[in-house]
Amino acid sequence: MIRRSLPCLLLLLPAALSAKEPGEVEPRLKEHVPLVDGHVKEQLPGLVDMYKHLHQNPELSFKEEKSAALIAGELKKLGFEVTEKIGITGVVAVLKNGDGPTVLVRADMDALPVIEQTGVPYASKVMVRDKTNREVGVMHACGHDVHMTCWVGTARVLTAMKDKWKGTLVFVAQPAEEIGAGAKAMLEDGLYKRFPKPDYCLALHADALLEAGHIHFTEGLAMANVDTVEVVIKGKGGHGAAPHNCIDPIVIAAKFVIDLQTIVSREVNPVDPAVVTVGSFHGGTKANIIPNDVKLQITVRSTKDSTRKMILEAIERKAKAAAASANAPEPEVTVRMDEFTPKLENNVDLTRKTVGLFRQLLGEDKLHARPTIMGGEDFSRYSLNGQIPVFMYFLGSVSADRVALSKKDGGSPLPGAHTDGYYPQPDLTMKTGVKTMSLAVLNLLVK
Ligand SMILES: [Zn+2]
Ligand SMILES: [Zn+2]
Repeated sequence: MIRRSLPCLLLLLPAALSAKEPGEVEPRLKEHVPLVDGHVKEQLPGLVDMYKHLHQNPELSFKEEKSAALIAGELKKLGFEVTEKIGITGVVAVLKNGDGPTVLVRADMDALPVIEQTGVPYASKVMVRDKTNREVGVMHACGHDVHMTCWVGTARVLTAMKDKWKGTLVFVAQPAEEIGAGAKAMLEDGLYKRFPKPDYCLALHADALLEAGHIHFTEGLAMANVDTVEVVIKGKGGHGAAPHNCIDPIVIAAKFVIDLQTIVSREVNPVDPAVVTVGSFHGGTKANIIPNDVKLQITVRSTKDSTRKMILEAIERKAKAAAASANAPEPEVTVRMDEFTPKLENNVDLTRKTVGLFRQLLGEDKLHARPTIMGGEDFSRYSLNGQIPVFMYFLGSVSADRVALSKKDGGSPLPGAHTDGYYPQPDLTMKTGVKTMSLAVLNLLVK
């Protein structure tokens, strides 16, 4: 029985699935692919120059004035209606082209406080003073220069092919992704009220560990909720030789850090991913002085809202318990809501539709599914808690030679995102980025 029915099932299953598959590629798109390739080829040298210029002139979060002005100017030239300074330095560029869906394409613009050590001829030498007046280097160590360049390139391709699609483009260049504040700032400044509200949102992110020409994607939950918690453990300072006259906040804080380790290991369901990391611990000035307080900063990652709530409550409970056990004043526990980033859930239908297209464009071997990672991305905010379908994919950016070298015996691992050694291979990265994003938009808007 089983033997006879099995082949029938196997024959029927793929056909039945593909008939209902939401990810079918628009058949009319096929004839446009060579056109897109032609435009990308023509644009590429100029785009690589633009990329190098942006790379050499990085700006920190909410300081992206020159980058914003440059790319806003490019979209004005193409006939987009451009509004600047949305959410401090954000850019919104709208192009209406008949009846059809509205597609938002997002790039982020900010760089990181890192001194570049890549040694590339167009390396950044920029140094600035940060909020605390410290002198810091500035580097596009997360590839947001790639995102801006692909954004301009995609706008150019889609304008050149205006007769092939119908609908509205909303190109958003966002500030301050690195501090999780830019998308929020733009939405609070009326992004969805002053400009057309999107039916779909798309974004790409450079992947520092993946070969150029390849793509990583995640269907559904892609990235975690991110919270920052600041804790001040209070004690009573005094002479290090007379601890009995003091309440030592260093001992309390040390105990608190150990207590935190049991939140994920003992209180969270083992099949529910979560992270609690103390990334900063500061107290005291000298060996023989017991300080008045100790300050800690904690990052919390979760993938369920109920788990998030439970962990945040547990941190407060454990801080209070550690203080109470030493007869210390109540600690200050602050959840930094201004730094919260909600989890990123890629819409399943939009992901399948777009990945189905990418498979046809690049080949099956270039598309790699990736499980959820516990990093965060404020692109998630554009979905308004899942009301609007969003999809972000990761664009391979490392040359094949460097990937091969890193895999050799004795080869050193590739420098990841946010490190001083990360640099993309501009040509193939930009070519793949502009081609995939242009066709992903056309797949939603083609006539
Ligand atoms: Zn980053
Ligand atoms: Zn980034």
